[in-house]
Amino acid sequence: MTVLVGGVGGAKFLVGLRSLLDLAKGPVSEGAEHEITAVVNVGDDVWMHGLRITPDLDTCMYTLGGGIDVERGWGRTDESWHVKEELAAYGADPDWFGLGDRDTATHLIRTRMLDHGYPLSSIVAALCNRWQPGVTLLPVTDDRCETHVVITDPADGEKRAIHFQEWWVRHRAQVPTHSFVQVGADKAKPAPGVLEAIEGADLVVLAPSNPVVSIGALLSVPGIRGALRTTAAKVVGISPVIAGKPLRGMADECLTVIGVPTEAEAIGRMYGARSEAGILDGWLVDTGDRADIPGVAVKSVPLLMSDPEATAEMARQAMELVGITL
Ligand code: GDP
Ligand code: CA
Repeated sequence: MTVLVGGVGGAKFLVGLRSLLDLAKGPVSEGAEHEITAVVNVGDDVWMHGLRITPDLDTCMYTLGGGIDVERGWGRTDESWHVKEELAAYGADPDWFGLGDRDTATHLIRTRMLDHGYPLSSIVAALCNRWQPGVTLLPVTDDRCETHVVITDPADGEKRAIHFQEWWVRHRAQVPTHSFVQVGADKAKPAPGVLEAIEGADLVVLAPSNPVVSIGALLSVPGIRGALRTTAAKVVGISPVIAGKPLRGMADECLTVIGVPTEAEAIGRMYGARSEAGILDGWLVDTGDRADIPGVAVKSVPLLMSDPEATAEMARQAMELVGITL
């Protein structure tokens, strides 16, 4: 099974799917009865303090590997912040972005490997040797494909593009926002194994991740949308929006920017049916929601990922919707 994911929502879904398929943290054995490949968003990736930051890949790796700070949803458990304090004491920019001490080690290794010419996908594989997520994590691309945001800067009233992280973390999305731009998307190529994972899967799932800056950013890499349209596998999406609200994060702000209502139906329609020009065969919405999407099988089931068991049941429903039973 191949799952397109962002950070927190995607990682939670992967934990549930992993348990449904009787997989666990540990080595991924090729040719096992079930295998999960996660194609992970890199639109949030950025350079800070000379280090390459890859938030969604790390959230997936730490969550599946048992090292995540669950409360915060990013970074390491049992974290300390001395590096951050020392940087602040120097007045180093940016002062709005924190990286914990334990987490810094991961970033030092990743950055050193990049400096030595390794592609991101190889670096993720190397880091996963330690974390053993039980799921193959693939960055959607090894190329730069960053989400930038066109805003009117409140400081001087000028229109300019800033990195997604600055918009999300520093401004908390609370600035006049005009559009999202995927910088580098025109030249980006899917990372090794990504198209094969979509084309060779029995089922492809769009996790309940942010439809704009996680799934939308993934889809901006040339070739991904095409693979979703032509794969022999069924493609099922899961709504990240329940009763008109995202569960956490600012998906509503993102959707507003692109003119899509924060409703499960509107998001499903945005993805569209494969039988038309879209990418979905099925769309799961929450028990209290309804959706009418021409050409797409829709079912209402509980979509709250309150624990791995509830998430596993949600994943089972996604399979059942397109006729797959384990
Ligand atoms: P990020 O990169 O860390 O922002 O994480 P993702 O893009 O993978 O996921 C963020 C999305 O997950 C948000 O839009 C949330 O609405 C959604 N989400 C979080 N928890 C749940 C849940 O329990 N159920 C559903 N359906 N969506 C959730
Ligand atoms: Ca993210």
